[in-house]
Amino acid sequence: MSCEKNAAAECASACGNQYETVNIRKPAGVCQLCEDFSQRQSAKPVAVMCCEGSCLRGEIARQASNILCHSLLPERTVRVCLGGAFTKNTGQRALVRNAPLVVAMEGCFLKCATRMMQGVLEGLEPDVIIADSLIDFDRNLFSADEMPEVEIMGHALSIAERMAAKLGGLRPAAAPAESGCACTG
Ligand code: SF4
Repeated sequence: MSCEKNAAAECASACGNQYETVNIRKPAGVCQLCEDFSQRQSAKPVAVMCCEGSCLRGEIARQASNILCHSLLPERTVRVCLGGAFTKNTGQRALVRNAPLVVAMEGCFLKCATRMMQGVLEGLEPDVIIADSLIDFDRNLFSADEMPEVEIMGHALSIAERMAAKLGGLRPAAAPAESGCACTG
């Protein structure tokens, strides 16, 4: 069985309620390294959040995000820590809140990064990239160890290069918005 979009639609219809409520325990302390990083990166025009899934699709998305932010467009993009942005209202979340453009690099149609961050930032509408829809591969594969690492990196590079070409034309950073996200398609 392959990963199909209609599975989500069937589930949503069967479950009725489209939302679930979670209580997230606030952190006991502050990671100053993380806060300093967020502050330093806050002027960049593009915040890239990735679903960080551990399956093959998530791994390709994760590697694509790393290549995009750390190698291809380091001056324009900041690689957001999704867990930090989702679970605490500090610098990482502010990067997503204030960036002129937010990119959600998702491994698959479930769009976990987008749905997570929409739960804590009302009105957030990122530019969503579905990594597995951009590449040709055996869609019956699921686990990251089912594909050679060199092949994973090849797919990640091709996605990152497409994103870099698309984002390369963005204007320089604008002043941070008060709240929400002013995304462009
Ligand atoms: S978007 Fe897909 S690959 Fe990414 S964490 Fe969610 S289920 Fe996993």
